[in-house]
Amino acid sequence: MYRQALWDEPLVFEASRKGAVGYLPPSLEEEIKQAGARALSRIPRGMLREELPLPELSELEVIRHYTRLSQMNYSISTGFYPLGSCTMKYNPVVNNELAALDEIALLHPAQPEETVQGALELLYRLEKALCEITGMDRFSFAPAAGAHGELAGCLIMRAYHAERGEERSKIIVPDSAHGTNPATAAMSGYEVVVVGTDSEGGVDVKELEKLVDEKTAGLMLTNPNTLGLFEKDIERIVEIMHDAGALLYYDGANLNAIAGVVRPGDMGFDIVHLNLHKTFSTPHGGGGPGAGPVGVVSRLEKYLPPPLVVYDEKTGRYRLDYDRPSSIGRIKMYHGNFAVLVRAYAYILSMGGEGLRRAALNAVVASNYLLAKMRRARGVSLPYGAARPRKHEFVLSLSRLRRETGVRALDVAKRLLDYGFHAPTIYFPLIVDEAFMVEPTESESKNELDRFAEAFERIIAESYENPEMVRGAPYSTSVGRVNEARASHPKTMTPTWRVYRKRAIELGVEK
Ligand SMILES: *Cc1c(COP(=O)(O)O)cnc(C)c1O
Repeated sequence: MYRQALWDEPLVFEASRKGAVGYLPPSLEEEIKQAGARALSRIPRGMLREELPLPELSELEVIRHYTRLSQMNYSISTGFYPLGSCTMKYNPVVNNELAALDEIALLHPAQPEETVQGALELLYRLEKALCEITGMDRFSFAPAAGAHGELAGCLIMRAYHAERGEERSKIIVPDSAHGTNPATAAMSGYEVVVVGTDSEGGVDVKELEKLVDEKTAGLMLTNPNTLGLFEKDIERIVEIMHDAGALLYYDGANLNAIAGVVRPGDMGFDIVHLNLHKTFSTPHGGGGPGAGPVGVVSRLEKYLPPPLVVYDEKTGRYRLDYDRPSSIGRIKMYHGNFAVLVRAYAYILSMGGEGLRRAALNAVVASNYLLAKMRRARGVSLPYGAARPRKHEFVLSLSRLRRETGVRALDVAKRLLDYGFHAPTIYFPLIVDEAFMVEPTESESKNELDRFAEAFERIIAESYENPEMVRGAPYSTSVGRVNEARASHPKTMTPTWRVYRKRAIELGVEK
């Protein structure tokens, strides 16, 4: 069993020893000292910081502190992440090495274009690849995340309708949608209209027909949806929207379900965003940079946020085009998170079209294999279209388990930590009671899937034998249960936070 290390590691502030040093810079020449003193004397007294209140430690203490913290972590390099919706899979290290090459990592975004022709060519080719994969005609790399791509997409819808002199105020979103969809639609100034899910797990087409009118700007959809089900009626849905003059937005955050198999453009979608930091070789989470390029069909191209990468046939040079008068305008400085784009390009080239297709097929097989094992467990059901195969993910309901034992999806997820697995996504999508959402991805072996299913079955058995024990899990992690609502309240926060806050108040960083 793989478990994270369990240490009672103090905060770096607590470990601090007065006078300890990690690095001694050489002493300054007299001339420099005097120049420094002269400069300092010009700064008004009240604006000088007397003391820099940093923790004091030796180099070895620092190294050990952070190495121990890193070993208390769970990561994709140490274990399986069955996280539904937010694809968390293995990303080949070689792609990261390529992005870290000096020729890439040391580029400055303000460098003259003639000195970065290679980088621009890479973006140009990546755009072509993404167009081929999605069936769109143009992409902008400006958006820095999935939700940011959605925002660009909604603003494109707004610009498109405005230019046609139409006032459209509503965006339709299914009740199974990822939370960012309604949030983004609302942020873009639209009224969010929710369409329900039918018993087979797809958009309720009858209801959609009734909801659509001349005020509808568009529909935001992911297909396969968050239940892992492919919309059987996608062609009809597209027809309903287009007949009403509305646009279709495809949430392509988790494209590994369909890449190389079917394309949003061929389904009839007009706008797509991709999360390169989920399915195209950049790990996500932890606040690292992402890339949510937004792609459109040709009639929407002029609204894309600049810059776009263009190739000039005459000069044989690549350049960035900022001169786009109909565009929604800039949404980010420079041209997206370049290193993420490099990893995506390296990944696509190394996989090839056939490789991407096989990855998608493997993701679907893995998900259905795991589902077949897990759904046999007592207290577990598969709501919506129980006879239909899933795509890359599936959502079980543990509501019977809860009724019969008092053990909730949350408790099962916590207990999985004791078995050395990351918890899956729980309580999402909202339409499934006690939702337990699993995405195994294409990168896990059958062996690992078996181990996970076995741990799940054992936890279900434990829930019937000793529910109190399961409800107290986890027992083997450095931090047990935090009360999610109260964790940030000064009176109820965890001891670590209390120490941190005390120190922060001492330092005057917080009140
Ligand atoms: C992750 C995800 C998003 C949001 O992406 P961010 O990069 O986190 O903003 C949107 N839709 C779906 C389906 C997702 O899984």
